[in-house]
Amino acid sequence: MFFQPRPVHHKIQIRRYSLDFRMPVRTAHGPWAVREGLLVRVEDADGSVGYGEAAPVPGFGSESVDEAEKAARALGGRLTGADLEALPKRLGCLRQAIRAACDRRIPGDSVAGRPSLGVAALLPAGSAALAEAPSKAEAGFRVFKWKVGVGDAADERALFDDLCAVLPSGARIRLDANGGWDRRRAERWLERCAERPVEFVEQPVARDARGAEDLLLGLAADYPVPIALDESVAGEEDFERWLGAGWPGIFVIKPSLLGDPEAALAKLAAAKARVVFSSALETGIGARSSLRHAFAWNGEARALGFGVWPLFADARFNGPAAAPFLSPQDVERIDPEALWNAAG
Ligand code: MG
Repeated sequence: MFFQPRPVHHKIQIRRYSLDFRMPVRTAHGPWAVREGLLVRVEDADGSVGYGEAAPVPGFGSESVDEAEKAARALGGRLTGADLEALPKRLGCLRQAIRAACDRRIPGDSVAGRPSLGVAALLPAGSAALAEAPSKAEAGFRVFKWKVGVGDAADERALFDDLCAVLPSGARIRLDANGGWDRRRAERWLERCAERPVEFVEQPVARDARGAEDLLLGLAADYPVPIALDESVAGEEDFERWLGAGWPGIFVIKPSLLGDPEAALAKLAAAKARVVFSSALETGIGARSSLRHAFAWNGEARALGFGVWPLFADARFNGPAAAPFLSPQDVERIDPEALWNAAG
């Protein structure tokens, strides 16, 4: 049963934010220093209030913050369920934000009793990972994520061996190439990963590489290490296409980027898909919505891709501190009203 806003008039307000990352985020398009997005506040006629966040990620094919803001302002401060349905599919981040802000179910009912979930520790790219991994392991993390495809491939493969050597036994590594490899590089890496403690390799080749779909399906069939799709599954239609193609690997879900995360997750659950929940580098408001979806997931539990905090220079906007485990209570402790006020 999917949530739909009641067909009454709601009052909708938006606040645009522009927040410095504590440290610029390395992306395939260069460093990303400032996170922009929208916070959404919806108040019902009975005075009940909810919050959501539209946090597009550059390069992930969603709308821009400007587009989301323009469409949100065009609502003129009033919202009905029909308005939400009328928003173009392309505005996935905004649709998700409004849906979250209209949701009046008490999540405690559905996820409060859920067990804590592990969190993947995000390691810096390059050799800095070697310095940081032992202290994260000491803190209790057992799943580590390392960005590859950033430096020279042969150097990175050597570093990868060193990294495997410093991790405690039982630890698992997620490699994220962010689409940075060609077929040959991807094959060399996947071969190397076969004898290493690798949980999966994320987006080895680019979403828009020539023949990307066949190439990814071929790599998934040829190597034992699971492959995860991230950039390839940015929108709802992408999930349908890859489920239809029989994708045997893992799906990375950034609920913030999906217009209707609940509907998309229902389809993935029906297909018994393997899923990893991931941060879109949103503030605590967006993270709260995303993590609620993660705790409600009934499929196989995997470490959350939320080991990103503290993310912002202004600590008021951060989600819960990166710890080896997160509980539903940690998520419900996020105070969306305080974040909304901080953005005022
Ligand atoms: Mg990724």
